[in-house]
Amino acid sequence: MEQHGGEHMLAGAIWEKLGGTTIGLHLGQTDSSIDVSMPDERTHLTEEEILMLENTVNARIRMDAPIRCWFPDEEELKRLPLRKAPTVTEHVRIVAMGDFEMVACGGTHPASTGRIGLLKIISTIPAKGKIRISFVCGGRAVSLFQTYMRYADKAGAALSSPVEKLSAAAAELKYRLSEAEKRANRLETREILAKMEENGEDLKGITLCVLTMPETDSRAVTAAVSDYIGTKGRAALLCAGERLTFARSADVKIDMNELIKRVARGGGRPDMASGAGIPECVSVAKKILMTEGTGL
Ligand SMILES: [Zn+2]
Repeated sequence: MEQHGGEHMLAGAIWEKLGGTTIGLHLGQTDSSIDVSMPDERTHLTEEEILMLENTVNARIRMDAPIRCWFPDEEELKRLPLRKAPTVTEHVRIVAMGDFEMVACGGTHPASTGRIGLLKIISTIPAKGKIRISFVCGGRAVSLFQTYMRYADKAGAALSSPVEKLSAAAAELKYRLSEAEKRANRLETREILAKMEENGEDLKGITLCVLTMPETDSRAVTAAVSDYIGTKGRAALLCAGERLTFARSADVKIDMNELIKRVARGGGRPDMASGAGIPECVSVAKKILMTEGTGL
């Protein structure tokens, strides 16, 4: 009854204040929704409109206006200012809530608007050219408020921030994290590159770097490898954790895409390929290069 009563109040307010026609209704286990068709066919409401609707409905709930249901005769029915035309022609049952909602409805309603308690709009999303407005009323609205407050308080404690400054604190934290990640990535790239420079060995006229290392950020590996093969006459066979990266300079003839496919699962371009494998894959690939040469 609380949810259904609230649906009437919300549909009435949207009709009166914004000219929106409620064409669909869903009363769910946790929240409910109405589909509203707007006169200008828009599919969203502004924050101000949502606030205005909530304030309008909640003020009317607090008025505790009587809710009345009756079967008017044909003459009376014609004169009633209904929100929309009834879908049936006989035994039309009308519900009126104060003087702000009047429509045909066969449902069960509370005795007065005060019994709806509270209405809170949860979301407004576009739905097939209409606006789907989800809401909760009464006990469900109170319970939702309690849940949100609990999460907001916990988030506030975790970020050492008052609840009203939470979004700014979260945005700042996200920015600092992203900057720290970039810095860490640059350091990691430099470290991998230094190891690669130390590990180069001569193989039939090219410098081949064969390196295995623990699991490392793949972006740092790719950046280091790209940097390494920027110098002519180089090739690299890397295994970081379970990720393989095979690459070579533009002037080297080895087809890394083909080579990686011969030793592991993976692929890519002739100059740089990646895949999943173990350190032995790198050793096997090196042996292939040693026996078959670098003119693959
Ligand atoms: Zn109803």
